Amino acid sequence: MDETKEILAEKEEKEVVSKNFIEMIIEKDIEAGHCTEVVTRFPPEPNGYLHIGHAKSIILNSGLAAKYGGKFNLRFDDTNPTKEKTEFVQSIIEDVKWLGADFEERLFFASDYFDQMYEGAVKLIQKGKAFVCDLSADEIREYRGTLKEPGKNSPYRDRSIEENLDLFERMKNGEFPDGSKVLRAKIDMASPNINMRDPVIYRIARMTHHNTGDKWCIYPMYDFAHPIEDAIEGVSHSICTLEFEDHRPLYDWVVRELEYENPPKQIEFAKLYLTNVVTGKRYIKKLVEDGIVDGWDDPRLVSISALRRRGFTPESIRMFMELCGVAKANSSVDYAMLEYCVREDLKLKRPRVMAVLDPVKLVITNYPEGQTEYLEAMNNPENEEMGTRMIPFTRELYIEREDFMIEPPKKYFRLFPGNEVRLMNAYFVTCTDYVTDETGKVTEIHCTYDPETKSGSGFTGRKVKGTIHWVSAEHAVQVEARLYENLIDEEKGVYNEDGTMNINPDSVSIRKECYVEPIIKEAKPYDSYQFLRNGFFCVDYKDTTEDKLVFNRVASMKSGYKPN
Ligand code: ATP
Ligand code: MG
Repeated sequence: MDETKEILAEKEEKEVVSKNFIEMIIEKDIEAGHCTEVVTRFPPEPNGYLHIGHAKSIILNSGLAAKYGGKFNLRFDDTNPTKEKTEFVQSIIEDVKWLGADFEERLFFASDYFDQMYEGAVKLIQKGKAFVCDLSADEIREYRGTLKEPGKNSPYRDRSIEENLDLFERMKNGEFPDGSKVLRAKIDMASPNINMRDPVIYRIARMTHHNTGDKWCIYPMYDFAHPIEDAIEGVSHSICTLEFEDHRPLYDWVVRELEYENPPKQIEFAKLYLTNVVTGKRYIKKLVEDGIVDGWDDPRLVSISALRRRGFTPESIRMFMELCGVAKANSSVDYAMLEYCVREDLKLKRPRVMAVLDPVKLVITNYPEGQTEYLEAMNNPENEEMGTRMIPFTRELYIEREDFMIEPPKKYFRLFPGNEVRLMNAYFVTCTDYVTDETGKVTEIHCTYDPETKSGSGFTGRKVKGTIHWVSAEHAVQVEARLYENLIDEEKGVYNEDGTMNINPDSVSIRKECYVEPIIKEAKPYDSYQFLRNGFFCVDYKDTTEDKLVFNRVASMKSGYKPN
């Protein structure tokens, strides 16, 4: 039985819930003296921006290193020169730092190890464990066999060590055209694991590499390069996702044949998927290229830069990963859980202010014209340390359009003709009248206030059932707010059979005329607030200007998730 299965069985038996199965493996290795220092790594390919799935790997790997007093490396897996761009290197570094994963100076590039990889290949040839093969790509595929049938040996498999050494050197020196020869590991063409049927480990390709330029015209294949990278860095536990499980025998073969003293151990875990959310790099890229979203950091995406722009915090993402746990079986998590985490993180930290997103005017007919009164309000009633502020109150206010109805249904406790409500942090008001335009749309609501009912005055005369928020029409700051829904049409699911995606046409609603209390003038890019009753909002760093604040709604107040 494989080790992970044993550990999982043990975990079940002892009901060890405080540790995940990877931690249990690591602790066993430490106990048995196989591991003196825990070294982990995050190995992105710089071919796109990072997303929430990568965050899982980053938080898991850096967290393990921190927990066991070890080291965490950020290593760019840049062995494939066609797709890689330096632009992505910068964004990845920024995202990893933002998530709080501490790699200090431990930033590496796999391409810096090309010399060692070449030497490793030579060593395999010298041991009779690798050979230069002249079969074409199609022939190699044919010879490989299938799941049911073993493969056939290449006719070049028995070349002498001398001939292989000579040919491989000449491959490196550029004597052969691209694709005309490859170097293959000599393992077992009859292995039930197809990855072990003499896999290709080096190919000829004249491509300019972002780091090594034109120094190389041969490049190592992933399955050969990756274990060498880990071994060179002294990685103790090489944690990857499930699709590499079948590659583990080859990983182990490479580190064994190259005789590394403390070979790294590969452990696989399940990828993070979010239900009805696009997480794959390839698909996010398609949404960007097709112009369906406005760049990699469009707040509707779950790339790290988009989550940051929308107003998610590193703490909320960490909390989310903690709740998700580390599993060995693929499953899909609800986006609502991520929203729950950001609400939990922000609710005690950020000020709560009144903001009206869909304004209608409210006139208090018995309040003196031209008078401004400042009323005290707590910045966060659940966190007294955040202090208080003064809010201007005047004769003309804005309230939410949905907080008034001419003919209310049962159980509607907000404003309607004749009804009395509390204006949050202010007075009780009773609706006396309203004005409509020619289409019947309400343009103004009239009411009277009762000076006895001032908030904080200890008034106990009578109770009202509804409390609504408001802002002073004269003092409020006009801002833009962007409210988001899922980018995907949830009824149809993300992908169609032909690889296209089902896009929700109403994934963003832009409110250009929103009014917020004057305190909002202090807001800077990335600052977030709770707009009372409306949700958490974050200042958009990209579209905010000197004259206009733009807010992204991080999450509404409605929760679709309950922790157990
Ligand atoms: P994608 O699946 O989006 O194309 P990738 O796996 O090709 O991503 P890499 O840059 O190769 O992206 O991945 C870097 C690391 O992130 C790998 O170790 C990979 O296993 C891990 N990773 C990628 N996606 C997820 C995910 N959804 N959940 C957990 N880890 C992930
Ligand atoms: Mg990949």
